[in-house]
Amino acid sequence: MPKKLSKKDFLKTPKGTRDIMPHDALIWRAIESKVGEIASAYGFKFIRTPHIEHAELFAPTLGEASDIVEKQMYAFKTGGGDNLVLRPEWTVPAVRAYFEHGMHSWPQPVMLYTYGSFFRHENPQKGRFREFGQFDLEVLGDESGAADALVVRVFSIIFQELGFKNFIVHINTLGDKECRGEYRKELVAYYRRKINSLCKDCRNRLKTNPLRLLDCKEPSCQELKEGAPKTIDFVCQSCRAHFKNVLEFLDELAVPYFIDPRLVRGLDYYSRTVFEVFAERVQTKKENQEDKEKAENIKDASKTAVDSNDKTAENKPEEASLIALGGGGRYDYLAESLGQKKLFGVGVAIGLDRLAEELKNRSAGLTREKKPDIYMVQLGPQAKKKTLAMFESLRKAKFNVAQSLAKDSLRAQLQSADKAGAALALIIGQKEALDGTIIIRDMSTGAQETVLQEKILDNLKKKLKILANPQAPGKAEVK
Ligand code: AMP
Repeated sequence: MPKKLSKKDFLKTPKGTRDIMPHDALIWRAIESKVGEIASAYGFKFIRTPHIEHAELFAPTLGEASDIVEKQMYAFKTGGGDNLVLRPEWTVPAVRAYFEHGMHSWPQPVMLYTYGSFFRHENPQKGRFREFGQFDLEVLGDESGAADALVVRVFSIIFQELGFKNFIVHINTLGDKECRGEYRKELVAYYRRKINSLCKDCRNRLKTNPLRLLDCKEPSCQELKEGAPKTIDFVCQSCRAHFKNVLEFLDELAVPYFIDPRLVRGLDYYSRTVFEVFAERVQTKKENQEDKEKAENIKDASKTAVDSNDKTAENKPEEASLIALGGGGRYDYLAESLGQKKLFGVGVAIGLDRLAEELKNRSAGLTREKKPDIYMVQLGPQAKKKTLAMFESLRKAKFNVAQSLAKDSLRAQLQSADKAGAALALIIGQKEALDGTIIIRDMSTGAQETVLQEKILDNLKKKLKILANPQAPGKAEVK
């Protein structure tokens, strides 16, 4: 039975989605431009793929028992009978694109990146949405440990350049198809002995996907994880050599990592290397204040005295905890599970929602809007027409120009120019519109000068150069 929405509700975004408002969208654009710049510098090529894909791609690759396939995909049947889904992740679409476009005939490895929206029907919570942003890097057609190290390296450079000082890569090897079987057996045997302490989902996972037991967030299952067998004790010689090779590259590149011998990731397609990146989370002022208030309440309730060495929230520096910003790994069997030839691959996905939120808290200065060089002020209809044409020629000449079409008075427009931080204002009134002149006003001193409209570009270049470097000789005027 379709749900009937009230008028109030259908004017809101659907649950788990949101509008990224202009100020926040600036952070997203800054991140996208930074990650794009770094990825291209390292040889990754940008590609856009559809937001919808065939449903049949995902169950054999992610796994029938994965959370995504079991309960998180937005699936629908089209009028023509196709089973489609909103893409829940990008590794599978990247591999699909590789085969669809015959990329095996390109020089190998094929290195691709993308960013955009992904969709999972999960319970919205802080930092998790039903439509969320990801940046993805994939290296296709390369078996070497250097490829794994490359994606981890590019990933960590992105974090460094975005201003994260304290981040760490948790890394592990899952082994390959052959040696993983042995590990799985040991893991199942271990958890069978603890079955009474497992949560309901984990009892099911024990039958369908035992590796996922290590991923469970229930506190009782987390405790059991501590005693579980470690993958590294079961992997074969060649998987061990591959892992060693990856770690040697990371050492060489000085990427901070921590071997987490029980790290697994929620999808079936991973083999050998898996990793996740964690960064230190900075508390927002609001959270910090809330913690202080909680500490106050505890103190009041217990009426205990607090001496100066006490570790209450008041005495602590800003609290920091770890947040997962993304992860990835190798998927050497993924293509075969789609009925294709073997294709080695390794990739990573960075969650953009948390990253954007974190950067907002860190006030990384990413969103500072560029101040305009020039603000155009027009008085009257004739002048308005003139400024519209002139605006375009100034923009083409690469000046950073702003204007306010809605404001009519000189005072209001000069106030806006001042607020925007413009260096110069260009003023055209009825008189200037008729006699082909224009007034240039220095916004910091208020000094004004009338020049010919046809000479405006030369005049502006000169004036802006002088403003940028007031000591420089040669203040010759062009009129
Ligand atoms: P995954 O594709 O599950 O490996 O996730 C990679 C990264 O994407 C995670 O570390 C998160 O930062 C982000 N991510 C995954 N699912 C969501 C979601 N529902 N909402 C926001 N971010 C997500």
